[in-house]
Order: sequence, then structure tokens, then C-alpha cells
Amino acid sequence: MLLKDIIKIFENKYPKNLAYDWDNIGLIIGDSQRDIRKILVALEATEEVVDEAIEKDVDLVITHHPFLFKGLKRVTKDTPKGNCIYKLIKNDIAVYSSHTNFDIAYDGLNDEICSMLELENIKILDKTKADKMYKIVVYVPLSHEDKVREALGLSGAGHIGNYSNCTFNTKGIGTFMPLENTNPYIGSKGNLEKVQEVRIETICSENILSNVISKMIDAHPYEEVAYDIYELRNEGMKYGLGRIGDSKENMTLGVFAQYVKEKLDISDLRIVGSPNKEIKKVAVVSGSGSSMIHNAYSMKADVLITGDVKYHEAQEALELGICLIDAGHFGSEKIFVDIASRYLEANLKNVEIIRSDIYINPFVTI
Ligand SMILES: [Zn+2]
Repeated sequence: MLLKDIIKIFENKYPKNLAYDWDNIGLIIGDSQRDIRKILVALEATEEVVDEAIEKDVDLVITHHPFLFKGLKRVTKDTPKGNCIYKLIKNDIAVYSSHTNFDIAYDGLNDEICSMLELENIKILDKTKADKMYKIVVYVPLSHEDKVREALGLSGAGHIGNYSNCTFNTKGIGTFMPLENTNPYIGSKGNLEKVQEVRIETICSENILSNVISKMIDAHPYEEVAYDIYELRNEGMKYGLGRIGDSKENMTLGVFAQYVKEKLDISDLRIVGSPNKEIKKVAVVSGSGSSMIHNAYSMKADVLITGDVKYHEAQEALELGICLIDAGHFGSEKIFVDIASRYLEANLKNVEIIRSDIYINPFVTI
């Protein structure tokens, strides 16, 4: 399968446009026209992971952390990063990274943690984006109204909340006169035609708009399809970083921390707050999320689960009266390998998916 097709499938679920502007995601090394047979999935491409990729003869490494983040001035074997790039290109191995877009996307890292902890009533902690919405209006002869409506519905137009195939339809008279060089479906050159038509109205989000228009035109019998696209002020699907939800059972912080440790399979974690404090509302931000303490506090979370908590942030949380569980950066993100691999296995044909065996957590607790 071509790398560009794999990327398209991956970005259907984890779109690039969800990432923060400062991030560096997508195809970082490689040729998008190359055929891919084996993919290695890892949290990041350390030198050991690059060696694993060479040893296992893979064509593509997919990582969560961007393989290149800061500007590079040279690529030589004298530096660890330069050496990795050198090895990857020499062995024709591509690298693709999906970072903050993977944190923000539905069914990404934060949703997975919520599901592992069986949290309920999940909401976004910090909204970052909403889909831009468009209204589509198309004029269709009566003979083809069902066919065009069906094409619109199948291509994803007409979704409002939990309802699909939403349209509004009004009958009216369409007029047109075919000119030279036309091949009209109805009528003849030089004669004004009056046709019973239906004005079908529906909506769709920006990311599917061009596909919806192309499917609508395919289903329409006319040589020239009359349609209008209006940009709307309605907000579509909302996206954001972090999640907040309710614990199924009330637990104390001490018991809940043990529960997190077990469910996320983490060897050790740190807590901030009294172990006896009752926990019901739980905020989650995978990776480094301690800057979101105030978001969690303003949404009345009893605890924020994240990684990389610093001393002064812990002090601040104590003062606000919100508990913290520092599950570690690695501890809260290592599940990337499994989430991304499961999605690729379910959606790619004839491509082998390998989960990296390299334990990359740089911290050791003694
Ligand atoms: Zn991270």
C-alpha cells in the first residue's frame, strides 16, 4: 500500500488540522509514493527504536512524539539525532508523527484513558476547535430527488447531533435554455425549458465538503448541476485537549490512585492532595498537562490525572483544593502504541503492523 494512502486513512481518524500550530506532525522523513509492507509503531523514534526498525525490516515508523521538533542545522553521524536520520534514510525507512492531533482527536489518547478508567459523561476539558459548517442547496428534477438525497446522506451530509440524513425539500419550477455545445438531459438547444424540480437543502462540515459535492454531482442527471454552498455560523463537531468525566463509583484519592495504577498498568505514580479526599469528577490530560490545572479546577474536577507535574504546580493545586495524580509522561502516553496499532490493523490491508518492543521511559524509580 502506498504511504500516501496509509497517511490518508490514518488522518481520517486523527486529522492533522487538530494539532496545535507549534507542533510538528505528519510525514517527517520519507517518500509518500513508496510502497509500505511493514509498519513499526512506537511512542517515539529513539536510536534503539530506529535500530529495531532496521532489524525488523520495516518501511515506516509511526510515532506519537514528533521525530523532529526543533530546527536542524546539519545531519551528521556525530549527533544522536543526525545519526538516526542518517540510518533511516540509508535504510529507506519513513517516519510519520501524530502528536497533539492524536491527543485531541476522538478515540485518541485522552478518550482511551477515560475508557480504561470507565469514566462516564465524558466532556472536553479545553475546547480548541469546532468544525466549520456549510449549507448545500441543490436543484434536482423529481425523477432523481431520492438518488441525490441518498448520495448526500451516504457521503456524510445532513448530520445534526445524533440524526443523519437531515434535509429540507421544496418543490418548484426550474427554467433553463440549452445553448450551443450542450448535451441536455432534458430539453433541446435554443428552447426555454420549464421543469418540476426539488430544492434539496442540507449541511455538512468543511472536511467532507468536497467529497459531498462530488458525490452529489455524480448522482445528479444534469450536465450542469445548479447548486449553492453557503458558509454557516453554526458550529459543527467540537474538539479539544483533555477530557473530564465522572468516576463510576465514589473512591478516595488513595483508592482511586491505586485504581489508575492498575488500569493504566503503571509501576509507580505520585499524588497531590489528601488520600482520604472523595473523588467523583476526574480530569485527564495525557503527557504534560499540568498547565491545565485551572481548566480542571474551573470545571469542578476533584482530581487531574496527567504527567510532568512540577513542584510549584503541585503547591498551586493544593492551594486550589484540587488533587493531582502524576502518572508520568510515559505512563500516560505509552498506550499510543496500542491505540494506533489497533486502528491500523482494522483499516489497512496487506500491511503488517508491529508494536515496538523497546521500553523507552528514561526514568527509573529506585
Ligand atoms: Zn508526550
